[in-house]
Amino acid sequence: MELSTIKDAFERVTKKQTLSCSKTQEAIDHIRHEIESVLDTIQSVNNADHELDYKTVMSELKASLLKAAPLSQMEGTQKELNKYGKLLEKYFNPDISKAYRNIDIDIHTLNQIIANHFYRQGLFEIGDNFMNVVGEPESAAIMKSPFLEMYQILEAMQNQNLEPALNWAATNSDKLDLSGSDIVLKLHTMQFVKVLQNGSREEALSYARTHLSPFASRYMTEIQKLMGCLLWTGKLDRSPYHALLSPSNWDKLAEELKRQFCNLLGQSYNSPLSVTVAAGIQVLPSLLKFMSVMAGKKHEWQSMNQLPVPVELDSEFQFHSIFVCPVSKEQATGDNPPMLMACGHVLCKQSILKISKNCTKVFKCPYCPFDIDAGQCRQLYF
Ligand SMILES: [Zn+2]
Repeated sequence: MELSTIKDAFERVTKKQTLSCSKTQEAIDHIRHEIESVLDTIQSVNNADHELDYKTVMSELKASLLKAAPLSQMEGTQKELNKYGKLLEKYFNPDISKAYRNIDIDIHTLNQIIANHFYRQGLFEIGDNFMNVVGEPESAAIMKSPFLEMYQILEAMQNQNLEPALNWAATNSDKLDLSGSDIVLKLHTMQFVKVLQNGSREEALSYARTHLSPFASRYMTEIQKLMGCLLWTGKLDRSPYHALLSPSNWDKLAEELKRQFCNLLGQSYNSPLSVTVAAGIQVLPSLLKFMSVMAGKKHEWQSMNQLPVPVELDSEFQFHSIFVCPVSKEQATGDNPPMLMACGHVLCKQSILKISKNCTKVFKCPYCPFDIDAGQCRQLYF
């Protein structure tokens, strides 16, 4: 269901409401007019001292009021409004259990993923409670401790204390260097800026000599800029380098630290659980639509290995390249990996096995005149 459906329904209902409003006003005017004219009649009769058949006058009034009653009109709008409510309910509050299917999943792994999510969000108490409830309190401590350290470092950084972060960076400098991270330099730069702002020029110079000079050859421009700052000790805010004092630098540094910390732990920056849920939310409408088509074929849905329709995810959910075999048109898998042939063309393993009759004969590459020996094909890793 598209948002435009909702928009159309909304426009219909507002149109109907405006119409009903003016019709109601018309009806009220009409009723008032009827009553006033009856009142006039009664008054004039009273003045003229005539006899009046009140009963007839009143029943005539009743009949004309009934005829003018806007009830049916208002009921019509009400109906449209109800329809709109149902549409909203269907769109924003769908029954997601319809797209549910039973999957054999290792509960222990699932518990770990959930607990890991809580710990990496810094929700230690919730994580502990969760692990207690699922009966796995032993693994909680192991999983929790690196994140406890990370949050201690981040908390100190929030108070502009870089000591724990610098200690962590010093302990892990080799690994950080190996992964190509420049966070050690970034941390020292921040500390240097602090000294420049609060200390003397001598202190700043000594800090630069000890901690920044090792970076001089690799990060020449950055270091030169920082040396320029020495001339502005104590008045950096009035210098051309005032951007170094921006509070947002601290936020950026904290984010970077989090990223590098997770990287060293061998974990992704975003929690796998939140990525999975976000991806699920994105494909849920397509799945629900698919399920309404599949209604009545619940068994097929439960036993299906692959969705028969393509479900698109945004690029943020695409983590690696995909190889599709040009012969079988199937996506490569662990069991059926892409294989590089001597000519440089690539097919999936099963296609090669098929063409080479299980590696018993030399075959021609389907894309060039090369003769291929299946035994010499090499597996590619994406
Ligand atoms: Zn070829």
